[in-house]
Amino acid sequence: MLFNESLNDIERDIKNCKRCPLYKERTNPVPGEGGFKKKIMFIGEAPGKNEDLQGRPFVGKAGELLDRLMSEIGLSRDDVYITNVIKCRPPNNREPNDSEIIACRTYLIRQINALKPKIIVCLGRISSRVIAQMFNIQFTSISRDHGKVFKSPIRPIKVFFTYHPAAALYNRVTLRDLEEDFKILKKIIEETEGSQ
Ligand code: SF4
Repeated sequence: MLFNESLNDIERDIKNCKRCPLYKERTNPVPGEGGFKKKIMFIGEAPGKNEDLQGRPFVGKAGELLDRLMSEIGLSRDDVYITNVIKCRPPNNREPNDSEIIACRTYLIRQINALKPKIIVCLGRISSRVIAQMFNIQFTSISRDHGKVFKSPIRPIKVFFTYHPAAALYNRVTLRDLEEDFKILKKIIEETEGSQ
């Protein structure tokens, strides 16, 4: 395991990566980006079409919704680091499979070790499952555990589960849940900042 390496080192390795077959069809890998002023990471599932074209995370319609939700609780992209579990787009936006998740997980672990976030916000089921497993947290399902914060027993990190913004684009009930979750997240951020 590499510690104290820079995000640039990790980004360079992602750009050269051929650890799983997804490198063959990508236009650009999407390592992640953000200013990280608040020591918060947002982690989604995988790049979609727009992200693949631009090499940036959450730049399509789901990204617009994420920007709005963040702005409503006083966050900007300079405050948080945004990435995905998988750094290259799966064809036709299919779900990443287990072998791709295992192959790509090494970069997420390295990013977390480099950034040392205080709060990780998991966007969607795949991200929630991967992060829960990484930090020894009991995760059952997104419908049951969204809007809740869990403390990792192995690292000083709070993990918050919520829906992926893409799931809320055409579903008003999920959108309402997501908006409520972000209000809870605001309180968790304030509590975390207050305890520093
Ligand atoms: S998805 Fe991850 S593991 Fe697969 S080629 Fe891209 S960077 Fe490498």
